[in-house]
Amino acid sequence: MIESGLLLAGAEQAACSGDSFEVLAPATEQVMARVARGDARDVDAAVQAAQRGFEQWSALAPKAREAALLRAAAIVEAEGEQRYLQLLMKESGSTVSKARFEINYTVDLLRTAAGEARRLYAETFPNDDPQRMSMVVREPLGVVAVISPYNAPLALLTKMAGFAVAAGNALVIKPSEETPLIALAFGKLLVEAGVPADAVNVITGFGADCGGALVEHPGVNGIAMTGSTNTGKHIGAVGMQRMLPMQLELGGKSALLVLRDFDPQAAAEIAAAGLFNHAGQICMANSRVLVELAIYPEFCAALKTICEAMVFGDQSDPAAAYGPLINRAALDKIQAHQSEALAQGAQLLTGGALVSGLVYQPTVLLDTPDHCQAWCEETFAPLMNVRAVADFDEAVALANDSVYGLSAGVLTYNYQLGLKACRAIKAGSVHIGMHPFQSNALAPIGGHGLSGLGRSGGRYSTEEFTELKWISFELGD
Ligand code: NAD
Repeated sequence: MIESGLLLAGAEQAACSGDSFEVLAPATEQVMARVARGDARDVDAAVQAAQRGFEQWSALAPKAREAALLRAAAIVEAEGEQRYLQLLMKESGSTVSKARFEINYTVDLLRTAAGEARRLYAETFPNDDPQRMSMVVREPLGVVAVISPYNAPLALLTKMAGFAVAAGNALVIKPSEETPLIALAFGKLLVEAGVPADAVNVITGFGADCGGALVEHPGVNGIAMTGSTNTGKHIGAVGMQRMLPMQLELGGKSALLVLRDFDPQAAAEIAAAGLFNHAGQICMANSRVLVELAIYPEFCAALKTICEAMVFGDQSDPAAAYGPLINRAALDKIQAHQSEALAQGAQLLTGGALVSGLVYQPTVLLDTPDHCQAWCEETFAPLMNVRAVADFDEAVALANDSVYGLSAGVLTYNYQLGLKACRAIKAGSVHIGMHPFQSNALAPIGGHGLSGLGRSGGRYSTEEFTELKWISFELGD
């Protein structure tokens, strides 16, 4: 069993309280590690270290920040399989394919962040007085609190922390209590690559006592959080008390629109890939699929066949569809959402039961009523809701009938209709001919409505992690 401290100023050490907590491997539900349980005292020490680290890191030339992030990318590219593959599979329940995707995406994110370190462009503008000049500069925020989720614990942490560091900020990371080990490994990677040890702190612990203490700490100058909407609302309310810049990447209930001209077999394959990847534990997963009536029967038949042919069992098998849910609470949630929908009149097309352990069958519900949790709340599990719609307008209206607005997909060969849908759908991204779960290190990922605030990726991230300052000067005679 692994024993680990938290990472304070680059060094692993016990929590001030001496307490630790157990980390369970989702595949076996057995304890795989004991990790230091940080609280407000550890958070305070980490913020103080980060304040010192900020002075060193922000004073470096952007070129030096770029070099450190490129070194981190090179290490992950060369040794990512050996360092992180087993850990991702064990700690987060990833299949080998999902773990590889995450490692490769992490390399790409680190390289992209490295480039952004040298591109913190701002501008000049004409001053009203010809004897004066004005310019705008971008400055790092200072200490950024980074709060990360369990579902893609390496890539999503990199997506926040990598760009925050690129912009010259120092970090205090509070990872999910389900996946602290991969975050500790990421912190050590940054130090190894040349980020000052004081600027990299990973305080492991629970949401309320550790994450709560972090966002409330007066030394924190900005917050980047990826997680559920409920947690985001809480953190957002705390952050607003001090008017902190915040990037909040929250939940979703993404729609996939399947229009009548699209091949139903191809549509079913895309829909399955867009929801069942990593057991539906993907924020952009298409948990609502809206199919035009003309191809609905063929679509449902193809989807049922695809789901029933999925392979489970060995996470290290590249053919494995997905692994276990993260924990028992996630299993209780999918079962509760499914039971309520069925009791309220939905029909079960396929699935609806456990495969084994925490692995749940790919489950498809037809005609889930609007008021059911499975339709309007995030299940974050392998549960897809499919509905027939009369036409394009009904599909768009239903897609928009959600408090969330993270991403959407439109399956059509008619690009005029596809682009019309892109305009009409209220979401942070819309993809034609693809499912809504798309990633790109340069793209502005984020959501409308309760899906969050701000955008992450490429220069959109470094904009979030910097403040603008207007500087003007008098030229004299
Ligand atoms: P969560 O909200 O339970 O936890 C996220 C993080 O917040 C964890 O580190 C947790 O410890 C911390 N936290 C919890 N309570 C806190 C508090 N009071 N103060 C400070 N920190 C606190 O989310 P999760 O279950 O780990 O992740 C799944 C969720 O993340 C889903 O809702 C999913 O949609 C969302 N997500 C969003 C995106 C995106 O880009 N929009 C990406 C991935 C996941």
